[in-house]
Amino acid sequence: MKKIAVLTSGGDAPGMNAAVRAVVRKAIYNNVEVYGIFQGYQGLVNDEIEKLELGSVGDTIQRGGTFLYSARCPEFKEASVRQKGIENLKKRGIEGLVVIGGDGSYRGAQRISEECKEIQTIGVPGTIDNDINGTDFTIGFDTALNTIIESVDKIRDTASSHARTFIIEVMGRDCGDLALWAGMSVGAETIIVPEMSVDIREIAERIESGIKRGKKHSIIIVAEGCMSGQACADELLKYINVDARVSVLGHIQRGGSPTGNDRVLASRLGGFAVDLLLNGETAQGVGIKDNQLVSTPFDDIFTANDHKFNHKMYELTKELSI
Ligand code: ADP
Repeated sequence: MKKIAVLTSGGDAPGMNAAVRAVVRKAIYNNVEVYGIFQGYQGLVNDEIEKLELGSVGDTIQRGGTFLYSARCPEFKEASVRQKGIENLKKRGIEGLVVIGGDGSYRGAQRISEECKEIQTIGVPGTIDNDINGTDFTIGFDTALNTIIESVDKIRDTASSHARTFIIEVMGRDCGDLALWAGMSVGAETIIVPEMSVDIREIAERIESGIKRGKKHSIIIVAEGCMSGQACADELLKYINVDARVSVLGHIQRGGSPTGNDRVLASRLGGFAVDLLLNGETAQGVGIKDNQLVSTPFDDIFTANDHKFNHKMYELTKELSI
């Protein structure tokens, strides 16, 4: 393999730049040319492809977002559109493609490797939601977690000064990991996640008994995929009369300089993706399990359900917040 390309796709995540840097540097170290595809699959189709050098990724490891830009490209689900992208790779002699993104992005990569046997594809999990099979952690999760912790610590100052209940809505459409890990980290009284049934009456009773015991404030973390912070407040106020405020953290969770954990994870996974391409592997997603680098065929990533919600951790948060 003499030439590979890399793109970032789907929602951006802190650490994507570190992953691109690792792909570029590892490839060049192995005498492989690297091309950056700008704007994800949209740029692949529109031929926004440029050769990257060692210096192209200098001063990027600490930056959030993605310097390759990301874009949604729904048309990439059409075979004729994908064919244009495949032609743009083939005309440059590119034989390997690293796709950094979520499982939607992996599906695009899988189609490419099915439709063009000369192009190998490897997926690198980049999303703050931590919702991809085949890995314990995705790139961006740790940074988003730390952003939430920092924000909630500040909100807690106000909550305790005014004896308020704060309901904090965090990201996580189908996966409650951000809410769970943030909830445990900030000592939230209640964590509401899509994986567990919600009993607002029971939550209200717990807040009430806390107040009776002298608790001055409560923090509730709710994952957006379960219910909105406002819906949670509206329901809660049906059962108790508390001074409840809602804070929706929104897009600040996606930005910022990646944490050390995310930089290390991105560097390891990016380097490993190049190793796999050089070994002739294709149609796989890389990941980390028990701190070991692993790869899983895309088909298994789409069908398996190995990224399980940690019920023991959830139960522990309840035990610690009585
Ligand atoms: P994520 O990668 O974070 O899951 P999306 O689901 O938005 O984000 O997918 C990112 C891009 O991947 C889409 O805009 C589209 O270009 C491509 N994609 C998603 N699903 C498919 C599919 N089934 N076939 C081909 N390409 C897809």
